[in-house]
Amino acid sequence: PAGMCQSQQPVVLKEKTFHFVDRYLYPLRLCDDALRDVMARFQAEMVKGLGRDTNPTAAVKMLPSFVRSLPDGSEKGDFLAVDLGGSQFRAHQVKVFADGKQSSQLESKVYPTPKEVTEGNGAELFDYIADCLSDFMETKNLKHKKLPLGFTFSFPCKQTKLEEGVLLAWTKHFKVRGVQDTDVVSSLRRALQKHKDIDVDVLALVNDTVGTMMTCGYDDQRCEVGLIIGTGTNACYMEEMRHISLVEGDEGRMCINTEWGAFGDDGALDDLRTEFDRELDLGSLNPGKQLFEKMISSLYLGELVRLILLKMTKEGLLFNGKVSTSLLTKGKIEMKHVSAMEKDKEGLSNTKEILTDLNLFPSEEDCVAVQHVCTIVSFRSANLCAAALAAILTRLRENKKLLRMRTTVGIDGGLYKTHPKYAGRLHKAVRRLVPTCDVRFVLSAGGSGRGAALVTAVAHRLAAQRRR
Ligand code: BGC
Ligand code: MG
Repeated sequence: PAGMCQSQQPVVLKEKTFHFVDRYLYPLRLCDDALRDVMARFQAEMVKGLGRDTNPTAAVKMLPSFVRSLPDGSEKGDFLAVDLGGSQFRAHQVKVFADGKQSSQLESKVYPTPKEVTEGNGAELFDYIADCLSDFMETKNLKHKKLPLGFTFSFPCKQTKLEEGVLLAWTKHFKVRGVQDTDVVSSLRRALQKHKDIDVDVLALVNDTVGTMMTCGYDDQRCEVGLIIGTGTNACYMEEMRHISLVEGDEGRMCINTEWGAFGDDGALDDLRTEFDRELDLGSLNPGKQLFEKMISSLYLGELVRLILLKMTKEGLLFNGKVSTSLLTKGKIEMKHVSAMEKDKEGLSNTKEILTDLNLFPSEEDCVAVQHVCTIVSFRSANLCAAALAAILTRLRENKKLLRMRTTVGIDGGLYKTHPKYAGRLHKAVRRLVPTCDVRFVLSAGGSGRGAALVTAVAHRLAAQRRR
């Protein structure tokens, strides 16, 4: 099918192997018609999430972010940001210059997030964040300053203003007790108050997608979509206020955090989900939740590959039918392995090494087959992302009543950035699905932390303007 675009393989053995894997994984291969169908379903989901009466039962929550304007370059000053919920927890210092052209400078420090933090209790989590921030300010010699802070918190939050957000659910590898249904900004403030030696003002709560869009928006005014394809996946975009029935007012636009990871949680994708998707979901921290995310993001792709290889081996199709303890162990295949196996030149030898490390004894043919399994799983991920993104782009174009539209998508996330072929496949699929949109894909420089600081800077500027 068009979605797979395989290169010609000269070796007959390779072709035969490809063929048998293709047939075996037929349900994971989505042709463009299937993708257009997903696109149409996601368009309907967006409408459902935006509507006041339909939102309560909508799987895709379409959360207002209370970010209305992109940075206009007049923001300036020193800002802090903390970024929780991606692969790394970081603190940032961001300097925003007055001339608008010089974009912000960034210093940052990474802090570990052990299981005691990601699966512990709420009070400990926020104390830990405050401790790390205090340590950061110490190292950067900032303790004497009063600084505004942006909190990038990459989980679904219901906001009624910029500086407040009630956590709807934990996702990814986080499951902290006592935080769901509470305001995470006041919890962070409370923890910060215990540090008498620092004075920070939490001004904004920002989803990582929104931070990413803002970061790119600083350099490219056309940027109106933010996309994350990393540990988790999600997108935000600028929606017309008159379409956002949950927020008062009809003028201008506001950024909507779609929370597309939850697409399918109401059964909308059940016909596309395979036995492997179901098995993966059952073994996850949040069964039944984030079903679209589980078909896409890096936290799950390696595990999907492992489940497929395990079944194929048990059926005698790989490794002479011999499974190993490693292959039976959850989490043993990770995204980084999938990326390594899909590399053009070293891919095959990487595959052999990785499988050998799993105590399997792969033949040349096994290696070719496993590589192809990886390709099918990561290709499906890129295609599904493209379909949902195409739905957002179409919505933006229709909102503007344009036949053709030029726009920019700001992107961040480890899967997009480090997988050797992911970005190319995603771009290609988007261009096929929405030929009426000329899309520029821009990697967010400095990530969502810098964006959170920019949101904070905008909030700071607007507050100053109001005071005038
Ligand atoms: C979260 C989103 C976040 C995405 C990417 C998802 O699991 O629900 O809020 O934007 O991951 O980090
Ligand atoms: Mg409105």
